[in-house]
Amino acid sequence: MYRSENCGALRLADVNKEVTLAGWVQKSRDKGFMIWVDLRDRYGITQLIFDESRTNTDVMQLAKSLGREFVIQVKGTVIERESKNTNIPTGEIEVLVNELTILNEAQLPPFTIEDETDGGEDIRMKYRYLDIRRNPVKNSLLFRHKVAQEVRNYLSNLDFCEVETPYLIKSTPEGARDFVVPSRMNPGQFYALPQSPQTFKQLLMVGGMDKYFQIVKCFRDEDLRADRQPEFTQIDCEMAFIEQEDILNVFEGLTCHLLKKFHNLDIEKFPRMTFEEAMTTYGNDKPDIRFGMKFGELNAVAQHKDFAVFNSAELVVGIAVPGGATYTRKEIDALIEWVKRPQVGASGMVYVKCEANNQYKSSVDKFYDQNDLANWAAATNAQEGDLILVLSGPANKTRAQLSALRMELGNRLGLRKPNEFAPLWVVDFPLLEWDEDSARFHAMHHPFTSPKPEDMHLLDTDPGKVRANAYDLVLNGNEIGGGSIRIHDKEMQALMFKHLGFTQEQAQEQFGFLMNAFQFGAPPHGGLAFGLDRLTAILGGQETIRDFIAFPKNNSGRDVMIDAPATIDDAQLNELSIMLNVKA
Ligand code: ASP
Repeated sequence: MYRSENCGALRLADVNKEVTLAGWVQKSRDKGFMIWVDLRDRYGITQLIFDESRTNTDVMQLAKSLGREFVIQVKGTVIERESKNTNIPTGEIEVLVNELTILNEAQLPPFTIEDETDGGEDIRMKYRYLDIRRNPVKNSLLFRHKVAQEVRNYLSNLDFCEVETPYLIKSTPEGARDFVVPSRMNPGQFYALPQSPQTFKQLLMVGGMDKYFQIVKCFRDEDLRADRQPEFTQIDCEMAFIEQEDILNVFEGLTCHLLKKFHNLDIEKFPRMTFEEAMTTYGNDKPDIRFGMKFGELNAVAQHKDFAVFNSAELVVGIAVPGGATYTRKEIDALIEWVKRPQVGASGMVYVKCEANNQYKSSVDKFYDQNDLANWAAATNAQEGDLILVLSGPANKTRAQLSALRMELGNRLGLRKPNEFAPLWVVDFPLLEWDEDSARFHAMHHPFTSPKPEDMHLLDTDPGKVRANAYDLVLNGNEIGGGSIRIHDKEMQALMFKHLGFTQEQAQEQFGFLMNAFQFGAPPHGGLAFGLDRLTAILGGQETIRDFIAFPKNNSGRDVMIDAPATIDDAQLNELSIMLNVKA
């Protein structure tokens, strides 16, 4: 037996108990005649004491050789501490050691294994197994396990069945590039790793599984954006014989359950907002509604004066920054510079200070009188003491820029409180999205999403206006997940592929299996997927997902611990019938 208890278990009530403990040496303090060692395992820290007058000389000697992170086993007696540590649950006792075994020595770790470590991001990624010994990372992984467990229980109790779908598949087009795997047995052919189990879960519905879920890895070879991982985990679900309302109810229920379980929050009903409303009010399809600063459109009150910049713009739109009227010129200039950075891309910004007694001071006083500016204040809901910031230009771009500014100010003003939770459903997404690069429409969600029947007539005349039965769950400015009611009719699916620019042959070649299946009695169905990594991070009160993933990749998509990706040798390449035309 390696241990009789773990290092987080012992309390005052255990005094006089003979125990065996095992773990890592967190630190040791050698006072010559007495040595204290903090022994750590996953469950906590127990203080060990070696005392010249009570511990035999050999053990005392061995204790002096202990270094940080040595793996040891001790036997001893639980005693009451003389000076208690009220910061830790085991702080009232210590173990007086009479036997010590060094199970393994350890090199000095490259950073301190403490909550506040001296190790930078890179070194901690390289030695991730040491980082996992630290509380913040360890606790995040334990928390993730609890979230996953709750999700499994909740859905299982509702008769959802977890089914595994394959990883070696044919590409599912969901907007990203596929990771591919060469097939040795089929030279020149490749599997793709799933961007999601989308088509398989639909086939499970054709197969009569009715309610499916899976906590599953998905792979997307996207250009890396901050806090994205090329492989990530989804809570993937699908249901048959349901309408959009049924799906929203089930997953609102799941989300409420998690908020109750982990934050003791009772949220009655999630608000719903159409995509269009989200875009016009927040410039964003995943609005953070924990704070206001809603968009006020100013075209009607700012155009047709002498200010050419606004007159020629498709959209003039502003937000009111609470308390911003006191900002100095320098602070405002810094904000203007912020929106002009290439990442945001605005060409300039107009401001109005709303001062006492309805007095307005703006950067465009030459063109607008007090009355005009009062109208702006009304449109942006600006109060005395606020600062109105206004951008103009092409509608979509300008909304995105103002949204970026709104979020930045929300952060700076401390309005995005990690312990406040504001979920909402964004519904009625457009079916199609115009893509400038390829100069054609793409599916906004994916090609299996069904259009709203009442919008079908627009498909030929005004495709961009067709709305889909598609929805996203948004939490605190993050997209937690999304899904849709699917097409379950072969003709309809073929029509959709046509609108997405597939020839009949291409559609047959890529999706023949799905359209064939639809001829064998496909039930009406729909579903969604939540991102587990992000959901866990947000429930854990954090914005970055990395600590909630045991072995994450860095910003360039590399695993710096195992050093992947890596080259493979010629023999392996030959076997796969692959000839490289790059030298790595
Ligand atoms: N497969 C979709 C996704 O990964 C989710 C869904 O439509 O169910 O975003």
